[in-house]
Amino acid sequence: MPLVSLRQLLDEAAKGGYGVGAFNVNNMEQIQAIMEAARKTGSPVIVQASRGSRAYSNDRFLYHLMLAATEVYPEIPTVLHQDHGNSPETCKSAIEMGFTSVMMDGSLMADGKTPSSFQYNVKVTREVVEMAHARGVTVEGEIGCLGGIEDGHGAGLDGLAHLTDPDEAVEFVHKTGVDALAIAVGTSHGAYKFNRPPTGETLKMARLIEIHRKLPNVHLVMHGSSSVPKDLQDIINRYGGKLKPTWGVPVEEIQLGIKNGVRKINVDTDSRLAMTGAIRKVFAEHPEEFDPRSYLKPAREAMQQVIAQRMAEFGQAGHAGDYQPIPLAEMAKRYAHETITV
Ligand SMILES: [Zn+2]
Repeated sequence: MPLVSLRQLLDEAAKGGYGVGAFNVNNMEQIQAIMEAARKTGSPVIVQASRGSRAYSNDRFLYHLMLAATEVYPEIPTVLHQDHGNSPETCKSAIEMGFTSVMMDGSLMADGKTPSSFQYNVKVTREVVEMAHARGVTVEGEIGCLGGIEDGHGAGLDGLAHLTDPDEAVEFVHKTGVDALAIAVGTSHGAYKFNRPPTGETLKMARLIEIHRKLPNVHLVMHGSSSVPKDLQDIINRYGGKLKPTWGVPVEEIQLGIKNGVRKINVDTDSRLAMTGAIRKVFAEHPEEFDPRSYLKPAREAMQQVIAQRMAEFGQAGHAGDYQPIPLAEMAKRYAHETITV
């Protein structure tokens, strides 16, 4: 099966009333962990790469690993998504390489740090929508500012500093024609999200529900949605790590989001914690080992487990065989019939 557009995957998720995890990758082991978890649970899947990841893997390696994934796992509908594109140029290079979905994060300026104006955000996002839809590629936009910094991207603010305004979200969607919308409802990137277990109040779930009520047909995206499980933190600290106590987004809150229009859930930190814990354990228990496979295999296995668990929790498990991919050329034809109101 060729790489699938995010739009089709999320339209199907909306029909089925489930969410789909979007998992970040940088290398072969991470891609394999996600694809194997998808096969074991029968899940459609979104694999995403940040700018940092594309730089780390040198782009072409990443793309060809993803092509290998579609060959080895032909039964799994798989999206390759650019996470946090900082400019139309970044999105363009992703589309040209073969990504089937891009995020234009115009909530920040091209430096990936400075919060932008609404007008700037509309302008750059609209530009990417026109370029992407002409090729059948999906676009995710963002309105409001997420908390934290990851891979050098983010304003570094508290997750509650720039929440999404529901009316602004409506205007943004109408002016840009985005397929999916990342909203800021209190989540942050990275491991240190909350210093106590967050509730639906901390996370402003009422605001998410209001946005969905005003935009019932737009696929909402929750960023910074790792749950940062204590058992994974404990493994790292037991084997010499020094993580400070921290709390992520509880799965129940994500499930409440899924009942209210959230279709894409971004998870990166949980994979990082799982891999690092497994590697630390091998190093601590078998200091005589020096074959990289002796620690990369358990790392891959640990990441696969946490991802398979999320796939079951988000409800995407069992839906891989529900549909056949719509070719991007056909998606482009469909977009050509849509009109964006400005
Ligand atoms: Zn993000």
